[in-house]
Amino acid sequence: MKRRAFIGSGLTAFTAASLPYTRLFAATGSDLPAIGLDGKPLTLKATDIGDFRARLRGPLLMAGEEGYDGARLIWNRAFDRKPALIAHCAGAADVTAAVNFARTQGLLTAVRGGGHSLSGQSVCEGGLIIDLSLMGGIRIDPLARRARIEPGVRLAQFDREAQAFGLAAPLGTVSDTGAAGLTLGGGFGRLCRKHGLACDNLVSVDLVTADGRFVKASEKDNPDLLWALQGGGGNFGVVTSLEYRLHKAGPMMFGGALVYPFAQARDVLRGFADFIATAPDELFVFTFLAPAPDHQRVVVFDVSYCGPLAAAEQVVAPLRKLGKPAKDGLGPTPYVELQRSGDAGNPPGRYYIKGGYVRHITPELTNSLVDYLESSPADNGVVAFAQFGGAITRVKPEATAYWHREASHEVIALGFWGDAGGAEPTTQWVRGAFKKLEPFIDGYYVNHGGFDESERRIRANYGANYARLAALKKRYDPGNLFRLNANIKPA
Ligand SMILES: Cc1cc2nc3c(=O)[nH]c(=O)nc-3n(C[C@H](O)[C@H](O)[C@H](O)COP(=O)(O)OP(=O)(O)OC[C@H]3O[C@@H](n4cnc5c(N)ncnc54)[C@H](O)[C@@H]3O)c2cc1C
Repeated sequence: MKRRAFIGSGLTAFTAASLPYTRLFAATGSDLPAIGLDGKPLTLKATDIGDFRARLRGPLLMAGEEGYDGARLIWNRAFDRKPALIAHCAGAADVTAAVNFARTQGLLTAVRGGGHSLSGQSVCEGGLIIDLSLMGGIRIDPLARRARIEPGVRLAQFDREAQAFGLAAPLGTVSDTGAAGLTLGGGFGRLCRKHGLACDNLVSVDLVTADGRFVKASEKDNPDLLWALQGGGGNFGVVTSLEYRLHKAGPMMFGGALVYPFAQARDVLRGFADFIATAPDELFVFTFLAPAPDHQRVVVFDVSYCGPLAAAEQVVAPLRKLGKPAKDGLGPTPYVELQRSGDAGNPPGRYYIKGGYVRHITPELTNSLVDYLESSPADNGVVAFAQFGGAITRVKPEATAYWHREASHEVIALGFWGDAGGAEPTTQWVRGAFKKLEPFIDGYYVNHGGFDESERRIRANYGANYARLAALKKRYDPGNLFRLNANIKPA
């Protein structure tokens, strides 16, 4: 019998019924060279691998086996890494077995949910990937307005189930992003200015800690751990289930893309900065200075308004008067359609990103970026302004691990290239944009980190919450098994 390949989403191609058969394959084999937690080579014994495989309900893949090459890919194809083993966990018991194996072998370990780590931290060279993509269960409780999801769930799947009841959790802006990874680092998106970050809506979490214990975190049980998981990223263990608070949303909202020619960028951005500083919480605008298909740049306002439809036209009217739009796609739109609207523009590929939070958008900032963009070819990349504020700001910075409550925007420079040869000019372009941006930056977003892991940068992710996080890291992961993330060193 042939094993089925399961490239990308395990949910679509692998059925639960097919899982036990995987044990029949490669039950015997040879020792496997691998990389340890300390970055040094080690050898995994064939008998230990066989024993590990026998403990799993989901498949364990190693190099040379069918499906391995597809299974090691993540969204950011710039990271072409070859892990020694990929454990596709089918449930919490598999996660426990994988964590115990990784710890006892001293193996470099990556944790992967939706595979959208920009900095490639959910895939590692020579180590183990604890892959959670098969764990796709979702349960909505419409009366209590709660959702319970497993860690392989993507935003589109979550939205679909919750929208069946006219409900939604605040999540991100691209629908194939993993909900767990997004939430653990914060999670901003279309509903966050109204209802808070994804992590602010986390009610309880189950996770497997580095010592293989299954722990629940909620306001009642281990509240410190729940606090740490609300913005502390993947530092504390492997999350096997997340419970969210849901809100009424959709099915119709108002939104779409409003596009201005780049020649108007300075004036349009100046007017936008004035307007957005006092915009209602229901309005979320993701602004892009991006290449258009004709290789010219444009200013795109990706607008979502979750307030009453009758008020929407009036709320967005000032945006339409910032200049002379080249395209006006604003109108009543289903919430799920808005949630999917970013997908086509963000296909898997090779990407490099740098950015950080700002407290205000000022003419000095926008002019400096426009100068830079005018001096470089349009196709190099995108500068994006993700809007924060509203309900995010009304939570005290020390109330959750997520620190940067005062930010009005996260500004990101993002470059992409089609083949390995384009890496150098693209990363240089992104670094150049970041140089313009850096004087205005006040802190960094955990989920967009990873390319620069200096101590200074890591601490700037967590602000004054760092010391408490480091103490909790010592309690839950003293050996720093979970280090492929915006890594907090055990105190
Ligand atoms: C195209 C694109 C669009 C994005 N849009 C947004 C956006 O609108 N808003 C926003 O806030 N962010 C956004 N992000 C950033 C995104 O939130 C992070 O990259 C997030 O980590 C992705 O989660 P994932 O599960 O898909 O990624 P993965 O690569 O699977 O995981 C990333 C990291 O999360 C941790 N992790 C994931 N699952 C678990 C788990 N179950 N237990 C413990 N740790 C875990 C691990 O440290 C892992 O290295 C976007 C990223 C991309 C690529």
